Amino acid sequence: MDKNFQEEQSTGIIKFTPPLYKQRYHFIKDLVGKYRPKKVADLGCADCKLLWMLKFCSCIEVLAGLDICASVMKENMHRLSPLPSDYLQPSERSLTVTLHHGSVAHKDPCMLGFDLVTCIELIEHLEESELKKFPEVVFGFMAPSVVVISTPNSEFNPLLRGVTLFRHPDHKFEWSRLQFQSWALEIARCYDYSVEFTGVGHPPAEMKNVGFCTQIGVFVRKYPQTRESAQSEKPSEAVYKMVFKAVYPSLKEEKYLQNAVIGEVIFTAQIIKQNLLNHLMSEHEEYSDDPTERKSKFQPSMNTSSEDLRKLVVEKSMEPFVDGSMVYIPLTAIFSFPKVNQLCGTFEKLCKLIAGKVTLSSDGSAVVLNTEHENEEN
Ligand code: SAM
Repeated sequence: MDKNFQEEQSTGIIKFTPPLYKQRYHFIKDLVGKYRPKKVADLGCADCKLLWMLKFCSCIEVLAGLDICASVMKENMHRLSPLPSDYLQPSERSLTVTLHHGSVAHKDPCMLGFDLVTCIELIEHLEESELKKFPEVVFGFMAPSVVVISTPNSEFNPLLRGVTLFRHPDHKFEWSRLQFQSWALEIARCYDYSVEFTGVGHPPAEMKNVGFCTQIGVFVRKYPQTRESAQSEKPSEAVYKMVFKAVYPSLKEEKYLQNAVIGEVIFTAQIIKQNLLNHLMSEHEEYSDDPTERKSKFQPSMNTSSEDLRKLVVEKSMEPFVDGSMVYIPLTAIFSFPKVNQLCGTFEKLCKLIAGKVTLSSDGSAVVLNTEHENEEN
């Protein structure tokens, strides 16, 4: 028995493992891994399950869904909103998710500029007139680099118990591999794409000749789009209605970057402070009998080279110190921590982002914390 295909003994119903819809989504996820698209549109997105899965793909910055049925999109669209954790730890990348109510038979400028367009189990739901317009809208107008179209393979149907005509009452047709491939090859020829055929849902070994349960065409545009072709005759009139928009917090936005940097600076300063206080405590215990024994760890020796000396000066300028009830932690020391360094990029940017938000020494060179309180924050 094929590993992804099981026929239940009692009912004779065929079950795929993982379920067929998940195999389709994983196929798309693998394709995203291969092409690394920034902008992805899912046409006929229904309850937004695929979009939800794609929002976790780190290369994607723009996700759009389109469906002719607004209510089915609205069922689960809240799952596309950012979570509290997204605000607590904003991501490096920006991500905008939008949902649009409209038909793939109509052109709308909001669907321009996408790298990957997915049409999963959509075309068999289209009326004849819509199916006729579909290639011009998707391949002519939207013209993304990659288009994926999946549809049932009717040759597999005899293996599916209970399927008489079509697999779903809303299906307007179901095609054999030959029908799908001739349709797809003609589109590829007209719009300068190459197309490769594959599928998900393997048949059982003894029925290999029927092909995959779901047939898939992957279209790749042959030539990069020129500015002229991208702009030629593209209508500016919007016909879709946007029903959802979520802009995820991102470190690319100054306010989120600033919050993250302030949090990281205070956290780092607290760690340095604690290490210093612990060190001073143990030193105090060690030398409490004879304080003259105490030496700075940065004391240069007789054979210190000039390079070593320069390093010591730099290290010394990064040394935190206690003055009365205050601990001074040089910004240079804080900036040397990889997380702070990575967030800010430059020392100047660090100074700019924390100015007025974190208590600094009078010359602005060090973060000042109180020795007594554990959780100083501005
Ligand atoms: N793509 C989804 C998935 O794989 O989970 C589900 C596809 S569902 C079987 C087909 C979807 O296509 C339905 O949500 C339906 O409303 C939508 N649809 C049908 N005709 C459409 C059209 N002309 N334009 C846009 N969406 C359409």
